[in-house]
Amino acid sequence: MRQKRAKAYRKLMALYSMKFGFRQPYQVLVDSEMCKSATDLKLELVKQFGTVLQGETKPMITQCCIHELYLQGKLRQSAVDLAKTFERRKCNHREAIPGDECITSVVGPTNKHRYVIATQSQPLRAKLRGIPAVPIVHVNRTVMVLEPPSDVTIETKEAMEEKALHPTAPDLKLVGPSTMTEPVHKKKKGPKGPNPLSIKKKKTAEVFSKDNGKGKAKATGLSKQTPEPAKAGQKRKHDQVEHMHPVPAQDPKSNLVTDDQPRPLKKRRRRKLAQVDAAGSDS
Ligand SMILES: [Zn+2]
Repeated sequence: MRQKRAKAYRKLMALYSMKFGFRQPYQVLVDSEMCKSATDLKLELVKQFGTVLQGETKPMITQCCIHELYLQGKLRQSAVDLAKTFERRKCNHREAIPGDECITSVVGPTNKHRYVIATQSQPLRAKLRGIPAVPIVHVNRTVMVLEPPSDVTIETKEAMEEKALHPTAPDLKLVGPSTMTEPVHKKKKGPKGPNPLSIKKKKTAEVFSKDNGKGKAKATGLSKQTPEPAKAGQKRKHDQVEHMHPVPAQDPKSNLVTDDQPRPLKKRRRRKLAQVDAAGSDS
């Protein structure tokens, strides 16, 4: 089956299932002509039903339809054999009536048993299109076809959807007035505040503005022990840059010290600067 057609059939069966209560295994009422076509064309009927209806199927035949096949004698024995493998649907017609009429009566005005009808009879198909939600299957040459939904089916579906949108008075009564008047607590969506990761850290910024980013300079100087160029102008520039972009301190201990006792640090700073100076001159 072509991809496009398979998709259309899947969609159609979804409509029958969701709007009209069709359930798997789908009950497929097969008429005598369909049995004959299947044996003539050597179609695997049950397998084909499964493919077209896209699910489990249960083929059935009415007493009148199988009687039609019996009447055709030995010539149609293979069709009879096929029909005998299907579940027999009791139609309670004491005298066998023509298959089309039997199927029409079994389907009734609303197809309340939710049958899929597999028939080769043109007049029957035309008649069934007047009843909402009757999936119709027939064989065209060698290809099994599921008819698109009939106009009545679509109208019924739309009417049902329309009705669902406008609840009737008894419906509202069932729901109860309390639920209607109750205030709806809407859960707030979206961000509750700015992204915490994007907020400037105020505390650390203050610390840095106090000691003018010298803590950082100390940390780098100590850890790296690199002979930085000790020229006064460059050094100041470096400090200014750090002041403008305060970075979280690498060593939180140094921050604590800075807050509590700024004086001793300054002394140490100087000592360290001297160290750096010495290192610089060495190289
Ligand atoms: Zn019957």
